Amino acid sequence: MRTAVITAAGQVETREIPVPDIGDSEVLVRIAACGICTMEANLYAGRMTVYPAAAGHEISGWVERIGAKAAALEDMPAVGSLVALDGLPRCGACRSCRRGQTAICVALQGHKREDGAITMGAGLAEYIALPASRVWSVGDADPAVAAMGEPLACVVHSLRRGGFRAGDRVTVIGAATWAISTSPSPRSSRPVASR
Ligand SMILES: [Zn+2]
Ligand SMILES: [Zn+2]
Repeated sequence: MRTAVITAAGQVETREIPVPDIGDSEVLVRIAACGICTMEANLYAGRMTVYPAAAGHEISGWVERIGAKAAALEDMPAVGSLVALDGLPRCGACRSCRRGQTAICVALQGHKREDGAITMGAGLAEYIALPASRVWSVGDADPAVAAMGEPLACVVHSLRRGGFRAGDRVTVIGAATWAISTSPSPRSSRPVASR
């Protein structure tokens, strides 16, 4: 499969690597769309210097193959269905992870992929293998919109942490993805409203 790897400031390489194998509890997803976030912009600009980086963590795609244990899960999306992914690696063991604050995990990077690239989402590729617990069905959404599931989840999480409720009047500063996603959320987002 083809994958894009950021190898240095201002440099992106297209590589040909094997389609990843999956374990029993994993799912292979054929990637439909992948967003470019601040992390990718920082890597490309040289403000963040973790090279070579297999970046891209705002991902949607179609389930291609399901491991045996994952297939037995009740709500496992079927082969062919569109899913949103949580592609960012977390250690699961640091203080932040153990407290449920995985967004500030001390391990900012994942593992080294076969081609030596450090996984930081690894969504700029044709396929990705992930644990079944990090794959969610999104019905017949537009794949490009489904790829925004990750930033939207961050927005909902930050609104919950802020203690906002439906109907609250808020000021949103900025006009990028997070700000745009935040704007309608207090009024329209059920997770926030149900708190
Ligand atoms: Zn992001
Ligand atoms: Zn951690």
